[in-house]
This record gives sequence, structure tokens and C-alpha cells, in this order.
Amino acid sequence: MTDYVAAIDQGTTSTRCMIFDHAGQVVSVHQLEHEQIFPRAGWVEHNAEEIWRNTRQTVAGALAGADLTATNVAAVGITNQRETALVWDRATGKPVYNAIVWQDTRTDRICEQLGALGGGAERYRDRTGLPLATYFSGPKVRWILDNVEGVRERAERGELMFGTMDSWLLWNMTGGTDGGLHITDVTNASRTMLMDIASLRWDENIAEEMGIPMSMLPEIRPSSQVYAEGRRGGSLPGVPIAGILGDQQAATFGQVCFEVGTAKNTYGTGNFLLLNTGTERVMSENGLITTACYQIGDNAPVYALEGSIAVTGSLVQWIRDNLGLIGKAEEIETLARSVDDNGGAYFVPAFSGLFAPYWRSDARGALVGLTRYVNKGHIARAVLEATAYQTREVVDAMNADSGVALTELKVDGGMVVNELLMQFQSDILDVPVVRPQVAETTALGAAYAAGLAVGYWSGEDDLRRNWQEGKRWTPKLDEKVRERDYARWKKAVTRTFDWVD
Ligand code: ADP
Repeated sequence: MTDYVAAIDQGTTSTRCMIFDHAGQVVSVHQLEHEQIFPRAGWVEHNAEEIWRNTRQTVAGALAGADLTATNVAAVGITNQRETALVWDRATGKPVYNAIVWQDTRTDRICEQLGALGGGAERYRDRTGLPLATYFSGPKVRWILDNVEGVRERAERGELMFGTMDSWLLWNMTGGTDGGLHITDVTNASRTMLMDIASLRWDENIAEEMGIPMSMLPEIRPSSQVYAEGRRGGSLPGVPIAGILGDQQAATFGQVCFEVGTAKNTYGTGNFLLLNTGTERVMSENGLITTACYQIGDNAPVYALEGSIAVTGSLVQWIRDNLGLIGKAEEIETLARSVDDNGGAYFVPAFSGLFAPYWRSDARGALVGLTRYVNKGHIARAVLEATAYQTREVVDAMNADSGVALTELKVDGGMVVNELLMQFQSDILDVPVVRPQVAETTALGAAYAAGLAVGYWSGEDDLRRNWQEGKRWTPKLDEKVRERDYARWKKAVTRTFDWVD
């Protein structure tokens, strides 16, 4: 009996395999963290071979955890940290360099040089929906080709492959050097800055301008389709691999945001708010990006407006790992509750520059408003409030672009267990915040995409029935206080500008 659908969620900090039943409930999960490699200030790398090892182990672990074998799995979907770029050798299967992670800022010079060709940060906006920023994959690939010995020649001879983590995993799952399939889906491709957002094909002119040979690029496919079966001898032999979605698009799918105007906000390493704009591509005038949201089989692609925030949950990690103020992420809430407010302190975590709505790679973090009064409890509050304020800025931009005010916010991700943060979020947005019962929406979305392709779920209505409200927070803050504090936040943001030349 094939009773279940599996999802591989290859995230920024960890990889997990989750197994879901038809009601969208989690049956089993196995998760492994991987090393965050920081070779220099602003650089962030992952070891792709470690990630592939963890993937195999988490699949085996999730199956064993529920006493299942591959024969019980109707399909598997992949979701992944987006933009993180890897180049590997098609003959040996070996990466030529670590994966360069989305948060990495080493490509700022490359981005500047490309912008200087004309158009600045807006150079590729019309074609790709994206501002020229260190966040996206294309310039990262360019960096590898320029800086790793012998790699450009090998790439030009057609010996190397580029992929985001979905491509890397799928290629390995389907045989690797022994006939592995080199593909990606429209959502991941839309984050490379190499894809034409209208035609969903690689833009040869941009690839040429970035010096990236076309032979390195994977084939672009829909997000829900049977691509291949798991290889014999692998951990999911014969199981259809039938869905790929970038993590934020997967969460949007898992939150069943299928109608135009529906939105979700995911609180993980960073925060990502996506608004479904249907088959229409809305170009932002307020610092958001235009991205592919999903494509089911041969249906028309659905687009989204996205507000990406680089640092939210990772600020909590930083307080834990770099300052040692807390021992575990959840202790931030207890510490924050030891005081009544932020004591005047504001923490703008511009560690990777600022993403939406500012897109300033010259910005670096700042903790402002300090007096002798401020203690670690206030700083803990400022850390949590930073997530809520950055979200408010993105929601304001979204409202301005769409011309309609958001009436409630669906949330998910690792930080939404934090009650203090969720209440403050509702207060600072002045709209209700709603968390679904199954908060693992990223993995769920990938499972949905795969399950739809094999007919395990019959269609969108089947999936909508699975969405259940878990908890709701409603706004309680006085308008005057809200707007005064938000104005202070905005002022704090300006203090981070012009830090890097
Ligand atoms: P990702 O998928 O990006 O790897 P997750 O959705 O698993 O991230 O969320 C993990 C993030 O949530 C971490 O950055 C962590 O610091 C943060 N986090 C986890 N628990 C809490 C908590 N109780 N309060 C605030 N932040 C938390």
C-alpha cells in the first residue's frame, strides 16, 4: 500500500525528511543539522557532500521511524534553501567548491560591476523580476568560475554542472554520474537571476554577460510533475520524484495560498512573505521582488510578489552562539519576558546588508538607543521586535504594490512557536496573525506538489480541506504607541546605511 507521501526539506541550517498522510498530518520526521562554514566576514558556505549524506540518512531515518519502506511511499517532493549555488563535475560528481549560501555577500563587487554596465541595481529587473543583489545565484556562480583554479576552462569544456540544492539532490537521487537527471523547477530557476520571468527559460544574454556557459545550466521544469524515479539501490528505489519547490514557494503551497491575494509569512533563518498574484506578474515599485510561485504540470505558471528579509531567526542564533546570552533559541522568549518593553533599544540585523524593501548591500548591523538602563532582557526584546518590524516594512510595501491592505497574516516556520513575537507581530501590523495546526508548511508544500502529480491528492480542493487553524493572535496595542515605535525603528534602520564602501 502506498499510503504516504515524503518530502525532503533541504534548509539553510538543517535537512529533514518528513512523511505525511492523506490528511496532511506528519507521520514521521528525521532531521540533521549541517555545518555553517564562515571562512571570512560576510562569507557563508555549506559542504554539499555533507548535505547529500544527511539527506540519505534523514530519508532512511524517517522511513524507519514509522516502520515504513519505500514501497509505502507514493511520491517524494523536494524543497530547498533557494539561491544557494553549487558547481560540480559531471564525470566525478565532486563539487569544485563548497556551496555558496544565499546569505553570502562576497559577490558585491561582481554585482556592482554588472550594474555599472548600465541600469545599476535595476539592470535585470524587467527580465528577471529581481534587483541586482548578492542574494541571487548567478553572481555566485560567476565568483566560482573566476576564483577557483581551472574551473572556468572545465566549465567551458562542458565538464561542470551548476545547480541549486534541489538540482544537486535530484541528480544524486536519480543516479548521479550514472545517468543522473540535471533539472530544476521554475521557482528555483527564478532565483538565479538567469531566468526570463515571462518565458520561464534561461536568458542567454544574461548568462553571457555573467560569463556562465549555458551547458552548465539545468533544464527548467514545472514544480509538480513526475520527473523520474528514485534510483535502484538508493533510499527511495522506484519512488516517483514528483515535486520541486524553493522553500518559500513550498510554504506558500503548504499554506494553500492558491487564490490571488492570499499570502503567508515564514519565520525561519530569514523571513519571507509571499503574496500570490496569479498568472499576472506584478512588478514592484516598493522594493519587493517578482518570483515564480509554482507551476503545476503544464498549467500556466502562478507568480508571487515576495518580501525577503535576510536575518530574523538567525539573529536569535547569533545572540545564542556569538554572544552566549541564551543557551537555546527558545530561551529568548523567557529573557524577553523579564522586562516590559525594549527599554528604548532597537536592533537592526543588517548582517548581509538589507534585503526588502531596501536592497542595500552597504548596510551593516546596528544596535541603537542604548542607555545605562538597557539590560539583556531589553536586548532580547529588541531581537524579537526586529523580526516584527522588518515584517511590517514588507507588509507596507506589499499593501502599496497591490493597492489592497492585508487583512490577516498566515504564519509558519521555526520562530512561530514564540508567543511573545506573534503577539507583537499582530500588534505592530494591526491585523490578526494566524498559525495553522501543521506549522511544517514547507515540507508539506513539497509533499503536496509531489502527491498532486501522482494523483495521491485529487486537486487543490483536496488540499484546502487539510488546512486547519491552530492559533490566532489579535492586535492589542494602542495606535499612537504603535506608530511612534515603528517610526523609531525606521530611524534606527537609517543608522545602518553607508557602512561598507
Ligand atoms: P530554516 O528552515 O530557515 O532552517 P526553521 O524554520 O527551522 O529555519 O527555523 C529555525 C530558526 O528559528 C532559527 O534561526 C532559530 O533561531 C529560530 N527559533 C527557533 N525557536 C525559536 C523560538 N522559540 N523563538 C525565537 N526563534 C526561534
